[in-house]
Amino acid sequence: MNASDYYQDTAARIEKALRYCDDTQAVVVGEQTLGQVGTFFKRLFPNQRAIVVADATTFELAGKRVAEELNAAGISTDEPYVYDEPGMHAEMRLVDMLKPRLAATDAIPVAVGSGTVNDLCKYSSSLVERSYMVVGTAASMDGYASFGASIEYNECKQTFSCPAPRVILIDMDVVCKAPVKMNAAGFADLIAKIPAGADWILADLIGTEPIDTIAWSLVQDSLRDWVANPEGVASGDRKALTFLTEGLIMSGLAMQKAKTSRTASGAEHQFSHLWDNQHHKFNGEAPSHGFKVGVGTVSTSALYERILSTWNESTFDAAIAAIPQNYRTWETIEKELEENFGTSGLYETVKRECAKKFVEPDELERRLKLFRDNWNELKKRLSNQLMPAAEIQRIIAAAKAPSTPEEIGIERSRLQKSYALAQQLRYRYNCLDWTRDLGLWEETVTHLFQPGGFWFK
Ligand SMILES: [Zn+2]
Repeated sequence: MNASDYYQDTAARIEKALRYCDDTQAVVVGEQTLGQVGTFFKRLFPNQRAIVVADATTFELAGKRVAEELNAAGISTDEPYVYDEPGMHAEMRLVDMLKPRLAATDAIPVAVGSGTVNDLCKYSSSLVERSYMVVGTAASMDGYASFGASIEYNECKQTFSCPAPRVILIDMDVVCKAPVKMNAAGFADLIAKIPAGADWILADLIGTEPIDTIAWSLVQDSLRDWVANPEGVASGDRKALTFLTEGLIMSGLAMQKAKTSRTASGAEHQFSHLWDNQHHKFNGEAPSHGFKVGVGTVSTSALYERILSTWNESTFDAAIAAIPQNYRTWETIEKELEENFGTSGLYETVKRECAKKFVEPDELERRLKLFRDNWNELKKRLSNQLMPAAEIQRIIAAAKAPSTPEEIGIERSRLQKSYALAQQLRYRYNCLDWTRDLGLWEETVTHLFQPGGFWFK
């Protein structure tokens, strides 16, 4: 297969996905595509002005060239808006800086960068009710095509609902030159869709979030191919990075289609959100989203492995019989939330999320019976979906992303506690909730840290 073949295949799969999306109308992934910025801008934003938005690094990397291409195509441009904030992350203060600049013009923002610049530009553009275009500079996360922006506000990382970009343009020459750790982070964010899919299967079965089969296909159908060459991602192999880019864009399009991130995120993301909100830093800086998600992915994969090797139909019968003793009342949960989150800014959020997923004993019994009655099929489906934790760990490490908690500065004891806190972070049903529902936390999660367990050392 020569280069143009796989670009064509990628383009065809993305084109098909675009039919289901409302916001994004064009995606370009290829070589030397920076030269096409003007053409696509004119086609998708006829007769409009442009303003390049970048940070100091991405401006040098591609922003300057994008501004030149826009001018060369005869498009009027405003002076580029370049953030000069070393080590910046997506926070409301930076939205407050960009928004007035956008409000003062009618120019279409052209974000040049990856996660941070895209999120800031996506949200700021929505605040002035304007579509925007993004020129991605690294395959570092799945947020290019997703609706919603992840921004820190009041010391908490939050997702703000806002439209996805109208045009996404990725020049693989730029992505291939991105720092290895950025593309490695994107790889970990992508392989996370394996356990995330398993979590969605659980939520689908109990009926809280039914599977959207189109969005499911967009993420899951080619997932194994996209993550098949982690060594290539680490060494800058063009085909491996093109597949990675495709996978991340498709994941974003799936979120855009389904209007929920359920399609691309499960319990593994809750570990990452937890550490975000604990303002976790390692060697003076916050590990990237993908790095945290990668460790979360190994963590939930290890939990699933334990579940699938120890639970059977009678496990559910025993759990049903034990409901009167094991049932966790709201008072118990509330007390725990106070202990776990009482002094953090997250307390009100976790209380609301846990209240949403709180169930009465009859509902718990109904769920446990559903799991029991569908066990054989469910087990088969989960086994087909998942990969062994050690294998996930090997693949993530081969892509040069951290595969152990210590590599992002998380001790085993803290990881153990994180399983419990991550479970309480969000309404979204997953393997952590499942373990709680069965009353088997000790035997399942705690065991992972005991002799013979995956995380024992
Ligand atoms: Zn993610």
